[in-house]
Amino acid sequence: MRLTFLGAAREVTGSMLLVNTERAAVLVDCGFFQGRRAESRRRNAHLPREAVSADAAVVTHAHIDHSGNLPVLVRTGFPGHIYVTPATRDLAACMLHDSARLQEADAEYLNRKYQDDPAWEPIVPLYTADDVPPALERMVGVPYRRRIAIADGVSATFLDAGHILGSAQVVLDVDDGGRQRRVVVSGDLGRAGLPIIRDPEPPPRHPDVLVMESTYGDRRHARVERMADDLARVIEETRARGGKIVVPAFALGRTQELLVVLHRLQRDGRLPAIPVFIDSPLAIDVTSVFRMHPECFDAETRRLLDEDDLFALEGLRLTRTREASMAINDVAGPAIIIAASGMAEGGRVLHHLRILVEDPRNTVLVIGFMAQHTLGRRLVERRPRVKIWGVERDLHAQVVTLDAFSAHADADDLAAYATRCAPGRVLLVHGEEAAQHALRARLTDAGLDVYAPERGETLEL
Ligand SMILES: [Zn+2]
Repeated sequence: MRLTFLGAAREVTGSMLLVNTERAAVLVDCGFFQGRRAESRRRNAHLPREAVSADAAVVTHAHIDHSGNLPVLVRTGFPGHIYVTPATRDLAACMLHDSARLQEADAEYLNRKYQDDPAWEPIVPLYTADDVPPALERMVGVPYRRRIAIADGVSATFLDAGHILGSAQVVLDVDDGGRQRRVVVSGDLGRAGLPIIRDPEPPPRHPDVLVMESTYGDRRHARVERMADDLARVIEETRARGGKIVVPAFALGRTQELLVVLHRLQRDGRLPAIPVFIDSPLAIDVTSVFRMHPECFDAETRRLLDEDDLFALEGLRLTRTREASMAINDVAGPAIIIAASGMAEGGRVLHHLRILVEDPRNTVLVIGFMAQHTLGRRLVERRPRVKIWGVERDLHAQVVTLDAFSAHADADDLAAYATRCAPGRVLLVHGEEAAQHALRARLTDAGLDVYAPERGETLEL
């Protein structure tokens, strides 16, 4: 059998892996590549032919960098089913629709802006809202821990990855010319103790191959237990300065975690009476999907839900329309504004950052991973000037990173996961070079055979 690494190889976006045997081809994830505009367009628009002709697809979770190119896959002629957990299917309905709408809006805006430029080649969205239902129709919801045949000689089992609602590790059991082989794909791995969802399940032991993410292979996070205290401190300090807090947050996952932690602070009398805005129609929709999937919750969340609405908050304002979003600019005094996108590459968070970064009373609160070449990364690095919508701004606001909120396993978690799994071979994906280098050294020291494949590389097992 062969593994071909079509994306998220020595990088963190565009997850895509192809598993081939003599009899079948299975695609694992079909993510959007997010980076510089021209490269993103080229890679997302031209899916590899062998991906499109696969017999079946499995998707680990609904984040766009793992699921975002499914509409293109199906439109280009992919013939098979797409296997996902039931929560991932419902979340994908929101995420893919939002992604299509963003692309349509972007294309319209840019084409209008450059309409008088003779050299401008009009942008066509990679997919539109019309391309989303055909992809959803292919999705088959499979609960955790139920083994199901997905292609000739290949079956799949989902295990909880503890990363976001519905996220899964995938165990592929493969008949490889009469030999039984097992490939475990970690997907994005979460960590123990995150609010709402369960902890990652332990992987099966001794598979032939473990394909593992390595996002934070060189870092250790603050403990999850510190989330509430850290957040309370940032809110209090910013409020005392009379400033606002703007949080670039993934609409799926981080926003709901933040809501639940804010809810706890309020319950304990530790949240000052200031308005909290969720300025994202997508985050509002995704929060409704969370309410539909208590089967994915941890025991504490299920128990608390009986007494209380964990996603509600006094002073919470959900802004759906553009007008309501713009009106947040007129709010005087301290406020918390949570808006997408998570890496501040687009979305409504840009219009808040544009207004708020130049005032030292304000805080930009970073609670998620910021990839290279994103505005989020430049904020974290505290560049003195940052470009927002083409205009340079002085960065005077405080920038605070709370990595207690990270939804990704850190280096210790990844090492513990891999050594527990004890596979014949570890293949690292979904990580930048420094992270992969550090993790590879650490796992090699622990006696594992480790390699980080390049994009486009095929490994024969
Ligand atoms: Zn993810």
